[in-house]
Amino acid sequence: MSDVIPGIPGFSFRGGALFCEDIAAEKLAQRFQTPLYVYSRAALEHNIADWKRGIEGTPHRVFYAMKANGNLALLDLFARAGLGFDIVSAGELARALAAGAKGQDIVYSGVGKSVSDIKAALQADVCCFNVESIPELDRINAVALSMEKKARISLRVNPNVDAKTHPYISTGLKNNKFGISFECAVEAYKKAAAMPGLVISGIDCHIGSQITELAPFIHAAHKVLDLVEALDAEGIALDHIDFGGGLGVRYADEEPPKAQELIAALTQCAKERGFGHLPLYFEPGRSLVAQTGMLLMRVEYLKPTAAKNFCIVDAAMTDMIRPTLYQAQMRLVNCIERSEGAALEYDVVGPVCESGDFLAKNRTLAVCEDDILAMTGAGAYGMSMASNYNARSRAAEVLIDADKAWLIRRRETIEDQMALESRLPQV
Ligand SMILES: *Cc1c(COP(=O)(O)O)cnc(C)c1O
Repeated sequence: MSDVIPGIPGFSFRGGALFCEDIAAEKLAQRFQTPLYVYSRAALEHNIADWKRGIEGTPHRVFYAMKANGNLALLDLFARAGLGFDIVSAGELARALAAGAKGQDIVYSGVGKSVSDIKAALQADVCCFNVESIPELDRINAVALSMEKKARISLRVNPNVDAKTHPYISTGLKNNKFGISFECAVEAYKKAAAMPGLVISGIDCHIGSQITELAPFIHAAHKVLDLVEALDAEGIALDHIDFGGGLGVRYADEEPPKAQELIAALTQCAKERGFGHLPLYFEPGRSLVAQTGMLLMRVEYLKPTAAKNFCIVDAAMTDMIRPTLYQAQMRLVNCIERSEGAALEYDVVGPVCESGDFLAKNRTLAVCEDDILAMTGAGAYGMSMASNYNARSRAAEVLIDADKAWLIRRRETIEDQMALESRLPQV
């Protein structure tokens, strides 16, 4: 028995077959059909424990960034474990509340909060709005006053730090749409302090995603702490510092720090600067869920051509867009180990009518028609980014708990897809 994902329980090869906990992947593919998302409860609980283990004497809170994977069953596990949620829309607010979260367990991020989004969040009494512009401060102030409430706010500052990640998932550089520039932050806080509908609560930053080194986090933390000092000097006191999410995972050969190491390093930064008493907030998404899920797919055809071998599978960019959107290298394994002798180099592609519809390129695989392949690391930004392009129905999701498989989202049907549309009357 060998773990497929180093350091994380839940997925292993037993006698040449891939298992999720105690159930063979092949069995799951037969029972629930493919493409299929499979999550391990043991892996989820392992990651939750990792993030919850704090630093002695220093309070920290973990708000799961649910855009990584918003399935209610997962949210429910997180809520029961005492995690909060980082949300970016009224839809995510409704999901968090449905999973049993209280307003006080929710921080609300995002650059484009509408009046109705803000109302819903104030109604729910969220813990904090992470505000990204001065017009947004004005709007939240006005909405709060109209509801005779006070909104707790943080400013999301843009520390202009290079997170050394893919440009599409880098958010802390000055040409990104996110946050308030470092230079304007103190002025913005002073404006906020004068608004009667607002209460200043904290400061926030989030510099990007899939960050695999500590250095950019530490660099950003010190810039945030410079601001905390400057605000302190202005008599503006904060009750927390939010260092955002962004911790990377090992998809191929990356060696990201552990959650523990990140928490320890940033706690150390805060202590050095005399702010060790302030609770630190974190907003991890990917690092909580990526390695807890796999995407199973069936091989439809093997198609050799003069230039390339194609392995055509029944999953597509509509199920997992990371390879084509972010040039992400996602690992693929055959659920039944075949002898290396049969291995060939393939582009693994889906049925969608786009050349960008691929799951992996130039991958050496020993594979036959009808085999089940598993994409590892698919628990984050997989199902949550799925679409209906080409009228494909979105995949089912199952959560495995030892020898039990719970269907946590049934496969979408074509009737589900058409239910939202109407035809013109016949005239
Ligand atoms: C996406 C996002 C996160 C989570 O990022 P991960 O890389 O998945 O950890 C946290 N906070 C904000 C504001 C985000 O936009």
